[in-house]
Amino acid sequence: MRMQKIECPVCWQDWLQWYRKKGTDLTFLLCPECDSVWLPGSEPGRDAARDLTDVVGNPPVGETEWDLIEPADVS
Ligand SMILES: [Zn+2]
Repeated sequence: MRMQKIECPVCWQDWLQWYRKKGTDLTFLLCPECDSVWLPGSEPGRDAARDLTDVVGNPPVGETEWDLIEPADVS
């Protein structure tokens, strides 16, 4: 499913984009600006927003959550 652009309902600073946790099938919508996450099936709204760290776990020392994810082409 190709989604139309969704503006982040938390910070309104960026578009939500699909990302995947590396090495897994876990995909989610992410706001690159404020690191808010929406899991598949949840309506992108303020109440359903998750924290990136809650979804992918704490990164190893010296890395960030962004080292654990990669852009996903969900079609
Ligand atoms: Zn945001």
